[in-house]
Amino acid sequence: MKIKLDRTLCDGFGICAKYAPEHFSLDDWGYASLAGSPVIAPTDEPAVTRALLDCPVHAITTLSDHTGPDGKPAATRTGSPAAPGPGERKPLP
Ligand code: SF4
Repeated sequence: MKIKLDRTLCDGFGICAKYAPEHFSLDDWGYASLAGSPVIAPTDEPAVTRALLDCPVHAITTLSDHTGPDGKPAATRTGSPAAPGPGERKPLP
């Protein structure tokens, strides 16, 4: 599992650092940044996934193994089933 944190979206709630302090650090104003590698060991995935799912602004995303049209890894959102990520389709009613 590889993650990305969009600091422009972070609103400083601090939830990520509460669940996975070894992977997220907060600055003096409570805004998060990745601490260390964005590659998450399988043993840490539950805590990081909890942080990802509970981030109120969906600033944390996973990077899939699939590549987009530009050849770069495509980011996928797994935080909200109601809001599809890039390249995802909203299910039909
Ligand atoms: S949970 Fe989300 S909004 Fe809160 S500090 Fe972490 S990244 Fe920022």
